[in-house]
Amino acid sequence: MINCPDCIVCGKHLKNFADGSHGNWCQPLEALEFISYGHYGSAEFDPMNGSRLSITICDSCIRLAKDQGKVILINNDGTLGNV
Ligand SMILES: [Zn+2]
Repeated sequence: MINCPDCIVCGKHLKNFADGSHGNWCQPLEALEFISYGHYGSAEFDPMNGSRLSITICDSCIRLAKDQGKVILINNDGTLGNV
């Protein structure tokens, strides 16, 4: 089991809820994980080999960001929803 990275916004230590039985994945308690495999346009990370970056944001910071209009919700059909 890996340790989840600390919240990228406030630095809060986050406990990994995943038991490691499915590989090195992070499922932080009271937080969200965001994964990127990179993409065209990034000069920082675009390995195109399946490796991924993992970033976590605690629920408190997500809530604040939502209240500040910094989070968008994209529905499964591609339309925008209300966060
Ligand atoms: Zn936080």
